[in-house]
Amino acid sequence: MLMANVDGTKMDDSEVYETLRQVIQNCILTEGFNVEDLASFDFELLFLHLRAKSISETVALNYVCTNEVDGAPCNQPLELNIDISKITVQRPDKDDRKVFFTDTLGVIMNYPNVTTIKKIPQFLTSRSDTLNEGAFALITECIGFVFDGEKIHDAREVPKEEMEDFVEHLSTQDYEKILTFFTKIPSVRARVEKACSKCGFSHVVEVEGLTSFFD
Ligand SMILES: [Zn+2]
Repeated sequence: MLMANVDGTKMDDSEVYETLRQVIQNCILTEGFNVEDLASFDFELLFLHLRAKSISETVALNYVCTNEVDGAPCNQPLELNIDISKITVQRPDKDDRKVFFTDTLGVIMNYPNVTTIKKIPQFLTSRSDTLNEGAFALITECIGFVFDGEKIHDAREVPKEEMEDFVEHLSTQDYEKILTFFTKIPSVRARVEKACSKCGFSHVVEVEGLTSFFD
């Protein structure tokens, strides 16, 4: 029912993330803090809270009412004000990180951090039978544990070549299962209700993903 005003000069997602990554790393003075250790959604939430403290507690988004009145769209500009404290991350179940290849064999994935997540769009469009180098590295990087029945191996303790060999031998089906994990990674979201001041239509807008919160 609503259309965002799309600004042609918008930075692409990876540029946004790179800028934010530097901002957060520079803002947090805790010794040993490394922004690369945060899961992408924790990073997003942290960024929004830093922004709330430093700039404004609300984010204003400009929309246009597309509700049809007498056969024509209303076109009334609408400003949505989102209270940053109301933005949440729908955390997935712990078990979502578990990917089963057979009844007993599988991996426990780590959520990608802010640097890794930038590589996902290209990964998702790569075909499973031509696993490209980027996808290959991404999967290897995100596997936290490999389990085989009762045995659990911490990927950090497995020699790198062994992990690469393991990933290299994943079947197309295994690969698809990992793909599903990557498509379900949560992101920051907010649900906003706004009535159009012109036609009165009551809009419910779901805003999801960090870059969606900025025009
Ligand atoms: Zn309207």
